Amino acid sequence: MKLKKNLVAATMLAGSMTALSFLSAGAAQAQGALVMYCGVQEEWCRAMVTAFERETGIKVSMTRKSAGEVFAQVKAEAANPRADIWWGGTGDPHMQAAEEGLTVEYTSPRMSELQDWAVRQWEQSKKRTVGIYSGALGFGYNTELAKSNNAGELKCWADLLKPELKDEVQVADPNSSGTAYTLLASIVQIMGEDKGFEYLKALHKNVNQYTKSGAAPAKAMAQGETTAGIAFMHDIVTMVVDKAPVKVVAPCEGTGYEIGSMSIIKGAKNMESAQKFYDWALSADAQKLGAEAKSYQVPSNKSTPIPPQAPKMTDIKLINFDFAKYGSSEERKRLLSKWDNEVKNLP
Ligand code: PLP
Repeated sequence: MKLKKNLVAATMLAGSMTALSFLSAGAAQAQGALVMYCGVQEEWCRAMVTAFERETGIKVSMTRKSAGEVFAQVKAEAANPRADIWWGGTGDPHMQAAEEGLTVEYTSPRMSELQDWAVRQWEQSKKRTVGIYSGALGFGYNTELAKSNNAGELKCWADLLKPELKDEVQVADPNSSGTAYTLLASIVQIMGEDKGFEYLKALHKNVNQYTKSGAAPAKAMAQGETTAGIAFMHDIVTMVVDKAPVKVVAPCEGTGYEIGSMSIIKGAKNMESAQKFYDWALSADAQKLGAEAKSYQVPSNKSTPIPPQAPKMTDIKLINFDFAKYGSSEERKRLLSKWDNEVKNLP
């Protein structure tokens, strides 16, 4: 309601801004600017930009990239940062950026409004990244293609190794995608490192493509381009809501989950706008925009309603994901290079 009121006010403000557009560039700059790297689905990124611009008059320049790609870019730009805020995407590269001093400490006045898991992420990163949503990893399958491939019902990670699924499983590359890194870290935690890598090598035989973005396999599955796709369960729910013949699976062996995060870039040129965005993005009203953009994660503000479509965390066998370990620079680098050497380059 408050957001709506603010939107009305902002629309009026935008109107008066047009009327006053003859004012000097200096006056326009007073509204501020913000450069944002966005790690969720493009639709949700755009909805956030539009609402924030309306609410504050701050002009946002947004680029959508996968989690590992944002990390690489922020690191490459460290001497002369282009971005101010990194909003969304899995927590692990945010944690790594915190450890490597690429992001800064910030304490929002909204911390008391957040779920414990979101605050824990902030504490573990020494106040440099905060949880904005959470969601479990799983997979999905196109029921029509599964039938024509005689793949039967798929319930467990082990089912993705069925010979009937040769070249029929799609997943992203963990170097670029936070979703796929969550898979790598989850499998290692569920099966142990040796058995986990044996599993990933066997899975490789069935993988038709390692995509750049984590949500791509869910879309490909919905469009009938692959029978099975590994993704966050909430990304697959989006396809079901759009009436694709797709079933969402919470794997029987258990699964990992993400704490989608937000960080302010060290050396941000628009620090005030970055802090304004940070506080706003933690509000219950701003977090409601996720479900409106068909992103069904569990929001971190305790007052944001959990979308009814969101997979029920209590129905999923969740592992006790070690975010500090698997978000650490050393472990992330080690696991990614092991995956490159032992899995990706297999014939
Ligand atoms: N899409 C949604 C809805 C997500 O929640 C996330 C992770 O936070 C991603 C995409 C991750 O994207 P990627 O795996 O491309 O880094």
